[in-house]
Formats: sequence, C-alpha cells, structure tokens
Amino acid sequence: MPENLPKDIQYAVEQALDFNESVLLPLASDLSLENRRRVVDASKAAGFFQKTQPEEYGGNPASTLELTALRETFAASNSPLARFVFGPGPGVLHSVEGELRENYLEPVLRGDKRGTFGFTEPDSAERPSWGVVINDELVVNGQKSYVTGGADADFVSALINVEKDDGAKLGTAMVVLDMADEGLEIEREFTSLDGSDHVAMRFNSIRVPLTRLVGRPGEGMPRALANIGNVRMLVSAQAMGMCLWVIDFIEGYLQGPHRNGVSLSEREGVRLRYADMRLKSYVARSALYRTARLVDRGVNAVNETAMVKVFVTETLGEIVDTAVQLYGGQALVTGHPLELLYREVRSFRFVEGASDLLRLNIAKGRFELGKGGL
Ligand SMILES: Cc1cc2nc3c(=O)[nH]c(=O)nc-3n(C[C@H](O)[C@H](O)[C@H](O)COP(=O)(O)OP(=O)(O)OC[C@H]3O[C@@H](n4cnc5c(N)ncnc54)[C@H](O)[C@@H]3O)c2cc1C
Repeated sequence: MPENLPKDIQYAVEQALDFNESVLLPLASDLSLENRRRVVDASKAAGFFQKTQPEEYGGNPASTLELTALRETFAASNSPLARFVFGPGPGVLHSVEGELRENYLEPVLRGDKRGTFGFTEPDSAERPSWGVVINDELVVNGQKSYVTGGADADFVSALINVEKDDGAKLGTAMVVLDMADEGLEIEREFTSLDGSDHVAMRFNSIRVPLTRLVGRPGEGMPRALANIGNVRMLVSAQAMGMCLWVIDFIEGYLQGPHRNGVSLSEREGVRLRYADMRLKSYVARSALYRTARLVDRGVNAVNETAMVKVFVTETLGEIVDTAVQLYGGQALVTGHPLELLYREVRSFRFVEGASDLLRLNIAKGRFELGKGGL
C-alpha cells in the first residue's frame, strides 16, 4: 500500500483486500448474471457500491484518493468481476433537473437504466453530429462510430454541435438521445480485441425536446471533459492495479524452477527486464497518487490527469508485453491470464483520449494556457 494514506483509506483498502479474497476471487471463473448480482449485493453490504454515488441519492461519495486506492486494489485481484463493484455514477448527467433527472439520472443510479457515451465520430462523416433548434425542439443528425455497450443501453449521451435554424452556431451540447427515439439507428454491432461490445449509430433527424440538452449549448465540451478527467483517473487506477498483479505473477514465475536448471530470476538479462517493470511501476504509482491528491485539493489538474493516464497506461502495455516475453510461449496460449491481459490492455491507450492526442493537450496546456506542474 502506498505510504502516507490517511487511516480511514488504509482501513478501506484492507476491507477491499478481504473483499477480493472472499468475493471477487472465488467467483472469478464464472461471469454469469447471478455472480454479477452477488458481487453487487456484497459490494452494497460492504459499502463500496455507494462510494461512486451522490449523497442525495443514498450514496456515500469517496474522495479521488480513496477511489484510486480502491480501484487499484480491486483491479490487482485480476478478477473480471472487479468492474461490478462500484455503483453507476452520474457522469455527464450530474446536477440535471426535470425530465433528465426523473427519466434518466435517477433510473441510472438505481440500476434500472443504462446510459452510454457518444463522442467519437467516424472518419467518413461529412460533418460532426449537429442539432438544429426549431421552436422548442432539437433536430439531430449525424453519426457516432464507437459507442460501448450501445446495443444494451437505454440512452446515449451524445456530443452534438448545436445551431439555430439560420445556421448560427450556438456551441456544443451533451444531448440525451433515447434508444427508443424515432430516427436513432444502430448501423453496426462489433466487438473489440479486449472482448467488449460496441455499436456505430446514425442519427436521422431525431426530434428531441430542448429539455434533453444537458446544460446549455456551449457547455457540452466542458461537461464531457470534466467527466473525462474523472474517467482518466479511473482508467489509470485500474491500469495501475493490473501492473501490480502482473509484477506479482511474473515474480512468482521467475523464482520457480526452469528447465535449464537455473531459475530465470538468477539470469542477469532477466533481472534487467524485471527491474524495468518495477521502476516504471514505482514512478507510475507515485504520479497516480500525487495526482489523486491534487484533484482532491480542487486545483485544475487537467494536464496532470492527462500525463498520468498516458504514463500509467503505456507502462501497463510495456509491463504486460515484457511479462509475456519473460514467461515464454505458454503465455500466449488462449485462456492464459497473460494472454487475456495482453488483449485487454491495448485499448487503454485509446479510451478517454489516445496517447498522442493527450500529449498534444499537455503541450498545448503549457504553451497556450500556462497550465500543468512537474
Ligand atoms: C475499447 C474502446 C472503447 C471505446 N468506447 C468509446 C465510447 O464509449 N464512446 C466513444 O465516443 N468513443 C469510444 N471509443 C473511441 C475512442 O474514444 C477513440 O478510439 C479515441 O478517442 C481515438 O479516436 P479515433 O479512434 O477516432 O482515432 P484518431 O482520432 O483517428 O487517431 C488515430 C491516431 O492518429 C494519430 N493522431 C490523430 N490526430 C492527431 C493529431 N492531431 N496529431 C498527431 N497525431 C494524431 C494518433 O496516433 C491517434 O492514435 C472507444 C475505443 C475503444 C478502443
């Protein structure tokens, strides 16, 4: 456990380790709906589920530092059920009122509805998705190319460029589009390397009331980015937990017997590779916890969050790759834990901002806005 964590967070991490042993690991081989429900029920009873939910909805929101430590701990179990521990948070729907609150936010927090996020546009799009205000309605057209979980979702929060009917630009808005809305078409369903399911969707003149805009036109990108900052910390904490699991796993393997008669941990060349795994993880973990504390202090940590996301996820990619190399060909046999991880971690360098685009943001943040510390 990283040093200097407050006592209450240390205690929560110890509880999380017990949860790994008593719930996540015994159920890990079976991802049935029944087991997912068991995880959710056990998590509610242990108080983890509520830590990502707002107080006014019965939640008990934790600090970024605590969530980072807990997410890392659950991910370090390497149980695929770890992602069901925390309850759904409000995401881009935070602080909405009226129809959005009653029909979307509240059912999401209760677990009765599932929302998804539409940001990425296809390269072939003639123009980014747009909506025209006509009286008290928005008429939405366009496409989104990579919507995770879109086939089972009840609605998508989509980033839309809003304009008046004379073509005057009003700015971007997050707009809630219901899967039942006339004109919302799922064009294609597909699965990515990590095994997750997605859809490409098209908006054909969908008419929605203006009450489905989250905030006002112009607030879309800031809202999306505010939420993306939280999700980047989430992804980084998960990636860090996976690094810890891989190092622990490969350590045991390297110290075991090898057919050449000398355990691999005795070989200098192997030690160099292993040391790289440890030193990168140490730096990544230090940066992760430092940034979680910055976020909790309320400072603008957009640049630091981006740096951590790039560094931790790239470190994870290198560590899994090195672990496969040191383990040998058996690591690539279908179903081996390293084979599963090798496929799973590749997407981390794309989701919530591709690595090189985040690098550009980091440079822009400094050169153009004077943001970001070292
Ligand atoms: C598993 C998975 C789940 C996803 N889920 C969602 C989701 O739920 N909702 C959603 O909206 N999207 C989702 N995405 C899409 C993801 O957000 C995008 O893949 C990511 O933002 C990169 O965009 P892109 O794929 O269009 O690549 P591009 O933007 O086309 O970039 C491709 C590459 O080109 C280079 N590049 C691009 N622009 C520049 C530049 N200006 N300067 C220098 N280099 C550049 C970079 O190397 C970049 O990696 C998901 C992706 C994956 C893999």
